[in-house]
Amino acid sequence: MGALFEWLCGCSEDARYSLPGLVHVAEPPKNVAFLRACFLKSSLFMSQPIVAIAGAGAAGYFAAIACAEANRDQRVILFEATAHPLAKVRISGGGRCNVTHACFEPRELVKRYPRGSRELLGAFHRWQPRDTVEWFAARGVELKTEADGRMFPITDQSTTIVTCLQREAERTGVEVRLKCGLVSATPLRQEGFALTLTTGEAISVRRLLLATGGTRGSAGFSIAEKLGHTIEPLAPSLFTFNVDDPRLREIPGVAVPSTTASVPALKLSETGPTLITHWGLSGPAILRVSAWGARELQAVDYRFTVRINWAGPAKIESLRAELQTQRRLHPRRQVSNTPVASIPQRLWEKLSAAAGIATTTTWSGLSASAAFALADQIGASEFSVTGKSTNKDEFVTCGGVRLRDVDFRTMESRLCAGLHFAGEVLDIDGITGGFNFQAAWTTGLLAGRAMAGVAAAAL
Ligand SMILES: Cc1cc2nc3c(=O)[nH]c(=O)nc-3n(C[C@H](O)[C@H](O)[C@H](O)COP(=O)(O)OP(=O)(O)OC[C@H]3O[C@@H](n4cnc5c(N)ncnc54)[C@H](O)[C@@H]3O)c2cc1C
Repeated sequence: MGALFEWLCGCSEDARYSLPGLVHVAEPPKNVAFLRACFLKSSLFMSQPIVAIAGAGAAGYFAAIACAEANRDQRVILFEATAHPLAKVRISGGGRCNVTHACFEPRELVKRYPRGSRELLGAFHRWQPRDTVEWFAARGVELKTEADGRMFPITDQSTTIVTCLQREAERTGVEVRLKCGLVSATPLRQEGFALTLTTGEAISVRRLLLATGGTRGSAGFSIAEKLGHTIEPLAPSLFTFNVDDPRLREIPGVAVPSTTASVPALKLSETGPTLITHWGLSGPAILRVSAWGARELQAVDYRFTVRINWAGPAKIESLRAELQTQRRLHPRRQVSNTPVASIPQRLWEKLSAAAGIATTTTWSGLSASAAFALADQIGASEFSVTGKSTNKDEFVTCGGVRLRDVDFRTMESRLCAGLHFAGEVLDIDGITGGFNFQAAWTTGLLAGRAMAGVAAAAL
């Protein structure tokens, strides 16, 4: 192979990695003339330095486009291990892709990140949701804002985003290599990295971006570790709670718009809608609690007590007063047919039964102790959680590359020059609502521009 290599490119095999070009090294060539032609073809670009991006997800695509747009004098190659680029974008937000969130104040925005808020503050001053909205609008993709601040393409289809990113990559000359995963990266003596790929190819590049996502077992983590980085332990975030309780049985699909979900043992509390499912509890309030408590809830093996206030932030005392008002206003009505605090009828019946109130009991016949029990059920229903389930709309990994070892102006490693990180491979995760994609766009864009040679001050 050494002699062949020298014959092909006129240098020793030791030096092969310092040449920017692809060389197949896994098997001896069968057709030397063909191989030589291929190599020469890639050598045509030898004067052009290569920027390699591993991972064709949201962060990798955004970085590749930003890099290629900012500097046309280098090759940008996007390596994707699977045959399916942008797979998560495609399935995201239930197929609608919650692209970002209408929160345009960086100090407010960072409050939505259980991990990464401090580091993202500066980054969001450089690229925030408003920039994301304008970026897509300039490329013909309009986003709309829903009542809760989540932003989606007006088509309500994630393919709009996928198509836009793929078209932009093509327009800017990004080379996308599918079924071509990054296996290893070895720093070169002067600058850059020697990469090996799952196809058996070897390639030398000037800069490398790891945008390999948060999947456990991804080569991105082991490569980062070999290059000196620490990986914060991985744990799932944004999951739903498994609960088997008579109050929730037979009423899957019931949604309560304004609730407070808390885990008293961990002093966690979040407000928002809660959804009753076949397995237990879901909805934004639950998912947010799962995100903030991702590590602690993993530590207790997802066995803990969750408390739900079905009347939003209302205090027990005010709920008792509300029940007194009902007694005055509707003395003859049955309690089980007169929900308070916008609680859906089916859940109200369950809560009344749990408070020991017969279906025939009228408000005037409600004893003081039963009224107290009902107020407790409304304002502080406790449920034993026995496990977790995957939230199909959005789930992320907490943990990843330790943030203090990364310069968030350029997303470059502080430990290994020329190595950058973007997206979920980092120890960053947001609550549900478009925050995870925003982190991917922001870190991807900053990394892409820095790799193109844009000075940090201008990013
Ligand atoms: C079902 C679901 C729905 C979601 N919906 C939303 C939503 O609506 N809004 C939101 O903000 N967030 C959402 N998220 C979270 C969001 O999708 C992720 O935070 C985001 O995709 C992270 O982007 P990324 O580019 O860092 O990683 P990924 O999207 O995971 O991309 C990483 C890519 O790297 C590839 N790869 C891995 N290893 C290698 C290797 N060694 N070499 C080459 N390639 C490699 C992977 O195959 C993958 O294509 C959702 C997540 C899920 C699972």
